[in-house]
Formats: sequence, structure tokens, C-alpha cells
Amino acid sequence: MTYHTPKLKASRADGPVVPQSVTGRYRRIKWWLLAFCLTVYYGLPFLRWDRGPGRPDQAILLDLADVRFHFFGLEIRPQELYYLTGGLVLATMVLVLLNALAGRVWCGFFCPQTVWTDLFLLVERKIEGDRRDRLRALDAPLTPRRVGLIALKHAVWLLIAAGTGGAFVLYFADAPTLLTDAVTGQASSVAYGMILTLTLTTYGLAGFGREKVCTWMCPWPRLQGAIWDPEALTVNYRDYRGEARMSAKKAAAARAAGLPAGDCVDCNACVAVCPMGIDIRQGPSIACINCGLCVDACDTTMFRIDRERGLIDFDSWTNLERGRRGEERRPARVLRPKTAAIAVAIVALSGGMALSVATRSDLAVGVTHERTPVAVALSDGRVRNAFEVRVTNTLAASESFELRVEGAAPATLAVATRAGSESDAIRIEAGPDETRKVRVSVFGGPDLAGGLTFRLTSLRTGATVTVADRFSLP
Ligand code: SF4
Ligand code: SF4
Repeated sequence: MTYHTPKLKASRADGPVVPQSVTGRYRRIKWWLLAFCLTVYYGLPFLRWDRGPGRPDQAILLDLADVRFHFFGLEIRPQELYYLTGGLVLATMVLVLLNALAGRVWCGFFCPQTVWTDLFLLVERKIEGDRRDRLRALDAPLTPRRVGLIALKHAVWLLIAAGTGGAFVLYFADAPTLLTDAVTGQASSVAYGMILTLTLTTYGLAGFGREKVCTWMCPWPRLQGAIWDPEALTVNYRDYRGEARMSAKKAAAARAAGLPAGDCVDCNACVAVCPMGIDIRQGPSIACINCGLCVDACDTTMFRIDRERGLIDFDSWTNLERGRRGEERRPARVLRPKTAAIAVAIVALSGGMALSVATRSDLAVGVTHERTPVAVALSDGRVRNAFEVRVTNTLAASESFELRVEGAAPATLAVATRAGSESDAIRIEAGPDETRKVRVSVFGGPDLAGGLTFRLTSLRTGATVTVADRFSLP
């Protein structure tokens, strides 16, 4: 199998791709997903989540000022940004799994570039008309009416783009407050800068970039060539059934004369509706986003001429080759060693992350035994070991902790942060997100050599964390 180079201007020789509107199963699914994605994107910042008094109540809040990311009941702290890395790795693995199952199906149905391009195309069609009207207008001289329509289209696009940029910043602060501030001109210049940047990028990418973004800017088409899977359900043209293409009338005559004739009537509907401007009949293309719109277009044609649907369909390359050999097609093999391995890896990673989150502590303590010297013999017969203790307060408020040291002979143990202040516990204060380093001396009898346990207790919650070390003799 080889991919053909995308012809990005297949819809019109010297102009932009102007896709025709289409109705059908996949178009309906895409509309529902578009409505769902936009509702989630615009509505999520206003969803509340009770975290208790004095805590932010926004369900999803990326609080950059406090370096704290809130996702419903989960809070990612500055010391835990590795969870975000884990999340990105997980998202990549899900994309690879989707690709093994159905090619670039993410690109065709869920990707923000697709969702916003579909929305912009809808506006364009409502204002300037469908493909035929637009192609005619593109070749005709400008009239005042057309200038007015173009101006109106760009005004609506800019409004949507501003709404998109505006909604994005709401994830970074309390949404109702920031919305009021932004509308009344009281938001910060950083907020206005972000809104402007996202307005312009949305306007540019969905209004003008469109299929060029999916083919030339996105890394996925490049990856697609490398991770292509012959068992994945991708949109394919069943050439063994469609060729030789000819009009329905000629095909009927050819069949009557016992000559071969395909089901493709060369109506060009599959090319006209393609948002990527490609002709799937030329074979798989790296530009194809698996959106299924050409399937809808071809099914409509097949229905009109009373032929079996599915000349273009989601099918595996293996089945296509089977069809070419005149063999029966087989049901899609969703569970294969590759998909099972990726799914297991996804479950293992997400399970590991969930376990790590569920068992994480608000306290963190690290202990380093000083080596120069490891132990000092004191004139009173005791031995002193020095340690650097690092106490990390992962909370957004100051905390008080108590540090104790436990060993084989507790009666002879004492801790101190300076000479003459020995006691059985020391108190450590740490500010929000602060790591306090404390030099701690541990005193013990000459027979104490062996394991030590440093026990840190939060004086507010009583939560405890321990770390093990050793007591050494000179
Ligand atoms: S060829 Fe078909 S599935 Fe691929 S992008 Fe075009 S319309 Fe979508
Ligand atoms: S829509 Fe179907 S019948 Fe029409 S050109 Fe495409 S493949 Fe052929």
C-alpha cells in the first residue's frame, strides 16, 4: 500500500478548497460531536466544585499564580507536575490506540481544528451559500452585495474566535469574575493579550488554515505513514467494485452486453464534499482525516441509482485486498496483539497514576546523613550524628510540623537544631509550597548503632510520614 500525495486544491484548480455540504450518518455524528465539544468547552469553566471553605470552587482551574491545577476533586501541586507529563503520555497512547483501530478518526471527529473549521464552514455556507454559489462568486467580479456578505462572514467568524479566546482564559481564573472583568474592561493586560492571541489564531486556523493545518502543520500525517495499520478501519474506496467507472446508463448497457462495468458513476460527489480536497478513489492519502463525509456522499449517490451502499466505506486495507482477490470480507478485528498491548499499557499507566494519586501524602520529607564527619564522639560519652532534613509543605497554606527520631534505644535519643537545645522532638514551620531545610543533630549512646526512623507529623491534621536512615558510631 502506498499513500498518494494530497492534492489540496482538488475542489477548484486555482483556489481554496470549497467543500459541498452533505447529509448522512457520519455528518450527523459530526454535528452531535461538534455540539457536545463546544458545550463542554464553553460551559466547563462555569461548573462549580465544592472544595471546602477558602478553597477555589471552579471544577477545572489552572491556577498559574499559585501553580496549582484543579481537575474536579484532583489537585496537582507544583511538586507533582510529573502527573501532567503522565497525562500527556496517556493521551498520546490513546491517540495511537485510536489510530490502530480507525486511522485518523480523532482528526476527523474530535480535533479542535476540525470542530472549529466545521463551525466556520457552517457560517460561511449560511451567509455566502453552498459550494456552487461560492465557486461562482469566487470567479465573478466583486459586487457591493458580495462585499457586504464577506464582511458579515468575517464579523461572525471574529465573534466566534473572540468567544473561543475568551472562554480559554476562563480556565485560568474564577470564570464568572474574570468574565465580568473582561466585559467591563477591568481584566489584566495579560488576560486581554491571551484573548487577542487566541482570537487571531482561531480566526486564522479555522477561517483560512483549514485543511493546510491538518496536512502540513499537524505532525499526525507524518506519523500516520509510520504507524499505519492494515487492520485499522479507515475510509477506503472499494475499487474492485467501483471500476471501471462510467455513467449509470453506460454501465447498464455494458452489463447487458456482458462487459465489465463498475458501480462508480463518476459523479464527483465524494471529492466535492471532502474538506481536505482529496479524491479518495486515488487510494489512501496522508491528508485523509477519516471524517466519513465522502462515505455519506457516495451512499447518497448509490441510494439514488438504486445500488448497494458502501462503495466508499470504513474498512480495513486487508479486507480491501481480499475484495480485490474476490474473497469474502471478514469482520473487523478490533482485538489484535497490537491493540491489546496498547490497551494494557494504557490501563497500567492510568492505574499506576490513579494509585499514586490515591496514596500520595500532603507531607514530604527527605533526609541526608552528613558525611564529614559521619559521627562525632562527645566528651559526655554520647555520639552525635548530623542530618539535613528537608520538609516539603505541598499545601497552599503555612503548616507546622513535629519531627521525632526513633531508634533501637529511644531513651538515649535526642534531637536538636542548635547546641544545647536537645529534646525528644523539634518543631518545623514551612510556608505554602515551601521546602524547609533543617540541620538536625541526633544524640545517642555509644551502643546505638543501627536503624533510625525520622517521623514527621503535621500538627494540624496529625498526618505522618516516615523516612529511614542509620545511626553511626565514630
Ligand atoms: S477522503 Fe473522505 S474521509 Fe478522507 S478527508 Fe476526505 S471526506 Fe473525509
Ligand atoms: S461519490 Fe461514489 S459514485 Fe460518485 S464519484 Fe465518488 S465513488 Fe464514484
